Amino acid sequence: MAISYLSTRGAPTPLTFREVVLAGLASDGGLYVPDHIPEFSMAEIAAMQALSYPELAFAIISRFAEGIAPEALEAMIADAYKPFSHAAVAPLKQLDSQTFLLELFHGPTLAFKDFALQFLGRLLEHIIGKDERLTVIGATSGDTGSAAIAGCAGRANMDIFILHPAGRVSEVQRRQMTTVPDKNVHNIAVKGTFDDCQNIVKALFADAEFRQNHRLTAVNSINWARILAQIVYYFYAALRLGAPARAVSFAVPTGNFGDIYAGYMARRMGLPIDQLIIATNRNDILTRCLDTGTYGMGEVAQTLSPSMDIQVSSNFERLLFDLYNHDGKAIAAMLEGFRRDRKLALSPLAWNRLKAQFTAGAVSDEDTKKTIADTYRATGELLDPHTAVGLAAGQRCRRDTSAPLVVLATAHPAKFPDAVRAATGVHPPLPAHLADLLQRNECFEVLDNDITAIRRFIDARR
Ligand SMILES: *Cc1c(COP(=O)(O)O)cnc(C)c1O
Repeated sequence: MAISYLSTRGAPTPLTFREVVLAGLASDGGLYVPDHIPEFSMAEIAAMQALSYPELAFAIISRFAEGIAPEALEAMIADAYKPFSHAAVAPLKQLDSQTFLLELFHGPTLAFKDFALQFLGRLLEHIIGKDERLTVIGATSGDTGSAAIAGCAGRANMDIFILHPAGRVSEVQRRQMTTVPDKNVHNIAVKGTFDDCQNIVKALFADAEFRQNHRLTAVNSINWARILAQIVYYFYAALRLGAPARAVSFAVPTGNFGDIYAGYMARRMGLPIDQLIIATNRNDILTRCLDTGTYGMGEVAQTLSPSMDIQVSSNFERLLFDLYNHDGKAIAAMLEGFRRDRKLALSPLAWNRLKAQFTAGAVSDEDTKKTIADTYRATGELLDPHTAVGLAAGQRCRRDTSAPLVVLATAHPAKFPDAVRAATGVHPPLPAHLADLLQRNECFEVLDNDITAIRRFIDARR
């Protein structure tokens, strides 16, 4: 049966895959979700054992990508995972008898976001065609921006504008964005937090005239194609560890809830997953929500794991849509209340459903450092601080120690050298292709946290 896509806030017209990839955010402010989820049988999953990463990606993504010619899709996927520097694309590394790291940092910008954005850049180029031009716009707490830029730089039919919070991304992260020389790349440092950047992007999308004039497209984790690409590595890791005969648990360093939501999708597609563990740092809105049934915003705190310094997790809305039986009107009303009161109480039924799918743990900076140090001492592995949050929460929250625990290693340690050195005394070197990053020229604009100034900047450059 053909899949069409619905907005989580109930807009009445379903869209096609091509339309939701271009739109990113729905016009009613909601996020797009498929109207039903294709499921694989155990036999079908078992038959995937021998597939290479790109072959597996095609087997999964093609189930959702109606309207894209299969040969074109296959070629795009093959091309998207070519720039990865490890032959396995997403290798597993064993830490102890039942604990594994899934290394998702072998892409061009050294974080898991390359998995989605190398694919999305090519997909957008394919869908938009030669005769039109897109404006890609996104907010980043660090890793999305560089990965989006790497996916879009130099593509003929698009411009990309990336907003990052000034002074709140690491030097390596900033330089990965600001040293890309292509003319279609525009970096904006906003004097504010990541949530401020994200609010500006949301407001620009809500401005129908601006959105149409510029053909705006979002590459934030709200874009469905990003979630889709991330489902693949849950299957890939589980298959390496004995799926579907054996259930595997995943611990996922979580900010915007995109990555772990992809794990939840993998489970809904039939992959046997034991626990899905949401790992947060001190910005623990999701952990508190699991514990109390109330999703309540606090202040954003800066931590050692800045890509998770987020209070509002955009993709959580996708999950709410399921928890409330696809009732878009109810979701729209709840989020209206959330905007007003900064908190939202789940119904007892929705809270129970949430707890049936996820476990959550919040990890302090101190425990993050300790985990990096302990792991280095025990195994010789250097963990980046986000991965360390995942490992610490995974170890604390796992119930069945006989089920393999896969910790998503979301960034290369060299992206966050200060935290790694503070914990271990070792400075993690950048891989060869980025060795001269600190000597390259930077280009970016510092602007106030003011939508008018940012709109003007974009108008002047398109
Ligand atoms: C983006 C990011 C995360 C959080 O992922 P979400 O999909 O936003 O939950 C975790 N770790 C790193 C290194 C990241 O870049």
